[in-house]
Formats: sequence, C-alpha cells, structure tokens
Amino acid sequence: MEIMNETLENISEMLDTKKISSVELVNESLKSIEATKDLNILHEVCRDNALEMAKDIDAKRANGEKLSKLAGIPIVIKDNISMVGTYTTCSSKFLENYKSPYNATVVDKLLQAGAIIVGKANMDEFAMGSSSENCAFGVVHNPRNPEYVPGGSSGGSASAVAANQCFGSLGTDTGGSIRQPSSFCGVVGLKPTYGLVSRYGVVAFASSLDQVGPITKTVRDNAIMLEAIAGYDNNEFTSAKHDKESYYKDSFKNSIKGLKIGYAKEFFESLNNQDVIKSMENAMNFFKENGAEIVDIELPHIKDALAVYYVLSSAEAASNLARFDGIKYGVAAKEYNDLIDFYFKSRTQGFGSEVKRRIMLGNFVLSSGYFDAYYNKAKAVQNLIITEFSNAFKNCDVILSPTTPTSAFKIGEKVNNPLEMYLNDIFTVPVNIATLPAISVPCGIAQNGMPLGMQLIGNRFSESTLFNVADYYERNCFSFREVK
Ligand code: GLN
Repeated sequence: MEIMNETLENISEMLDTKKISSVELVNESLKSIEATKDLNILHEVCRDNALEMAKDIDAKRANGEKLSKLAGIPIVIKDNISMVGTYTTCSSKFLENYKSPYNATVVDKLLQAGAIIVGKANMDEFAMGSSSENCAFGVVHNPRNPEYVPGGSSGGSASAVAANQCFGSLGTDTGGSIRQPSSFCGVVGLKPTYGLVSRYGVVAFASSLDQVGPITKTVRDNAIMLEAIAGYDNNEFTSAKHDKESYYKDSFKNSIKGLKIGYAKEFFESLNNQDVIKSMENAMNFFKENGAEIVDIELPHIKDALAVYYVLSSAEAASNLARFDGIKYGVAAKEYNDLIDFYFKSRTQGFGSEVKRRIMLGNFVLSSGYFDAYYNKAKAVQNLIITEFSNAFKNCDVILSPTTPTSAFKIGEKVNNPLEMYLNDIFTVPVNIATLPAISVPCGIAQNGMPLGMQLIGNRFSESTLFNVADYYERNCFSFREVK
C-alpha cells in the first residue's frame, strides 16, 4: 500500500508511463480502505463499479488513447453529492435508503475525466457541523489520531485523503466545511469562488453559500482536480460564465516576488492559541523573506460574519429541507393520525438534533415580525462585508489568516456546546459570506500533535493566484509530508 502515499500528480505520471495499472491502483485503494475502516470514513465503497471502470481506463490507455491527468485515479466524494447507483444519504437516517436517480454535474465531470470514484464519505448530517460527530452512521475519526475529530462537515472527505484511501476527494463548503477539516487532517482544501463549480445534484444546505471543492495532499493535486470540475453548467442557475482556466499548467510561477499579502488585524486579535499564533508568525516571516510584501488592510465587519452566517444559512436550510417530508423524500413514519401528524413524525424521527436546531432557527428568522430584524439585517451586513473585501483587494493580492482558531479537538469535547462548535468557523465563514475563493494548506504541528492550517483568501476567480502562493509555500516552507 506504499503507493497510496504518493501524490495524485506522481500517480498520474506513473499511470501514464505504465509503471502501474489503474486496476492495480484501485485494488491498492480498496486495501487501504479496508485497513482503515475503523475510522468510519466511508459510508459506501463502490468496489465493483470502480474495478470495472479501472479496467476500461487500462484498455483505453493500452490503445494509446490520450487521457486526462485524473484518468484511472481513485477519488472519494462526499455523501451529499449524487451519483447514480450509489446512496446519497447526507449521513442522515432520513435518507438512509435514498439512491441517486441522476449524477451531479461534478460527478459527470470527474467520470468524463476518467476518475474512479471508489467511495462516498461520511459527513455531518446535511453538512451541518464542524466535527463529523453529527453523523447518523457513527463518528468519523481523524486519521492523524483517532481520538480526535477530523473536523466537518467534510470530515470523511478530508480523512479519506489523509488516511491514503484515495488521491483526492470532493467536499462541500458552506461556511468552512472543506477548509476546516482539511486543516484538522493536514491536507489541502479549496473552497472555490461561488459559481465556479456547479451545485447541480448536490443536496442543498444554504444555496447562496454552498460550493463544491477539492481536497488533496498537495496544491498541485488540487489544481488538477479543480480544472476537472470547474465550469459553466446550464443546469444550474447560479453557475458563473467564467472562461475555462488551465489551473495546473498556468498557475505555478515558482515565485511570490512583489506579491501583496493583506494582513487584517481582525483575523488575529482574538487569537489566544499559541500554536496558531506561532504558525502565523512563521508564515508571515517566510512570505516576507521570499519577496512578498505584507500590507495592512481593514475588515471591520468580519467579526459579525458568524452571526450573519447562522441567520442566512439557517433560513436557507429551513427552506431547502422542507422537501424532506417522508413523501417526496425521506423515510416515512409508520404510525400517524393524519397528514400533519405524518409530516411531524417523519421529520422528528428522520432528522438529527443539529439539523432540527437549524430548521427551527431558520423558520424563526424568516417568520413575520422577525424577518426584518434578522434576515434583512443579516443581508445588509453581508453587503458591508462584501464591500470591505472588495476594497481590501484594491491593495493586496491575497489575504492571510489561520484556517481555524485551534487545531483539532478530541471527540466528544464540544458536542454539548453548539456555540463553541460554531466558533470553529470564525475565520472561514466570512469567505462564504463574501462569495470568495480560499485555500487551506498545512502550516505546522500543534502541541497536541495535530496539524495546523493556514488560509489564503483571494478575490473572485483568483484561484490560480491562490494556487501559486500556496504551492510556493508548500514547496519551500511546509507540506503535508511533515504531518505524521
Ligand atoms: N460548520 C459550519 C456549519 O455547521 C459550516 C458547515 C459547512 O460549511 N457545510 O454550518
């Protein structure tokens, strides 16, 4: 299983030069999945289908067909992404038996690129959570140390990469769910610009904030995956008409000379974790020594982003989750008195407690009498945050922050304190509120032995700048290889 330590980029080269076949590779991935199954990372393993597809790719390669960089490579997707022939449970008891009737656009795109989807990853139910403990099918364990949470909600997707079950995965990020688990697991996670990657076929949590993005071991691997999944989609009305970019070929300049890195004190003044403070100082020194300039910027309203997020995301979740009623979708209650009682019982039995909390909060902020006080006010503050970021980007190319205020915490440590759990996302949430792209890369190891992550935020559609800076940092300062 040594081979599973490799990066996606290297594996792609090995497949191309026929040092290994895709069938061999898928078998290695399946062995690794089996060896790490106690971590409860995957909800479903697509064994037969994966081997079938691998045979196909090997045959195409033997015929001399020109294949994409992802062709023949084992990939995992989060269980809120639809794929024909698999369950899409969103780690909810309510959708335990739900099979996808169609493919999400991102799945079609991965399959067109020849990627082999080997499994569907556990997550926080309906993507609500920061620890992958709100999972109806058991808690996910962090592969770096199974006593710790892997973060969430894409905790399964990040763990699948960290545990070498696959070479890349897809997660979704509404308020941090790609970046926070990537940081907790010591891997690279990108939340793309809102609209860059299609949401068609992805179970909606908060539609105006949700984005699908890649989780990988390295930045270059991430660029390969983004290139495969990005692009306009006629099926999705918030999809952006952005020209196709060759992220892998064009992003990497191997220099950050003259780059302006924005420093907003608002991201740092609340920090009290010494590990995080130290890792940020190190990163800042590294950037300065390598020719970048640190410029002060102001983002006074990001302190309100978390409140804005919980109003907007819960309001949208309450609407989006109305379809899960036991009739259109979801397991039906067996005993009931009338229709209303049927809905009531189905939803009460089907949803877990965090999801119920969000639905109640969402319906509250949308109710007449509170709509202006909460929903409209949150929308107004969102506009302020968008304006502040866009002003900041007049003076800098990227903005630096920690991904999370601490490294991973122990399983069970925060389950009884939702507010503490929500505070995990204070640095990631503003990015979604402002529809921007951001990448999390490993940047050190904390006292508890768990990895730390650094976040680089870019202006809309500046993914290639983020890739360049993050790759430069990874090559010359710190990479996933230093995380054990
Ligand atoms: N942890 C945040 C929440 O619970 C973000 C989740 C996400 O990005 N899907 O809502």
